[in-house]
Amino acid sequence: MWFEPLAWICISYVVISFGEHLIHKHLMHRKEIPQRFMPKQMWIYESHAVLHHGKYYKVFNHEPDEYGRFHNLHLEIMLNLVVFSPVWLTLMLFSRMGGSILLSMIILHHLCWNLIHEEMHVPTKTWLSSFPLYKRLARYHYLHHKYPTRNFNIVCPLADHIVRCVAKAKPEDLVKMKELNLT
Ligand SMILES: [Zn+2]
Ligand SMILES: [Zn+2]
Repeated sequence: MWFEPLAWICISYVVISFGEHLIHKHLMHRKEIPQRFMPKQMWIYESHAVLHHGKYYKVFNHEPDEYGRFHNLHLEIMLNLVVFSPVWLTLMLFSRMGGSILLSMIILHHLCWNLIHEEMHVPTKTWLSSFPLYKRLARYHYLHHKYPTRNFNIVCPLADHIVRCVAKAKPEDLVKMKELNLT
């Protein structure tokens, strides 16, 4: 039956979207979890909020420092697998298909995050950057860099919309995004 895998794909999208929102908001922009539960939390926060946002990429798609250019563009696969593990391991107990689809989509999401986040800040792949969906996500992430308390989703924007955490572009933002060839 095609309905069951399709339903698990939709459920997995929702789970991943909220996971992406929560990881980015609470681990990468804040230090809220007790250190014993998340020893690498400080490193993740420093790496993303302090360095990626605050030092590098003040200009959205240009960073002259060779180290800073690629710093924190990629997520660690283990972070995603561990943070999502209570969900996909529990799901495996009840539905092997559901757990397998969720786990596959977590890995696919991880690859997409790394691919598009790197392209947004270090544009080199014209085959990717001309896609309308890519441009839409790039504009979305541009606004996250401009308004860091908004637009926490990178790949799956559903959760930001549900919790009303979406930045509204101002006229000057629209001009800048046009200059960056994101429209
Ligand atoms: Zn970024
Ligand atoms: Zn961020």
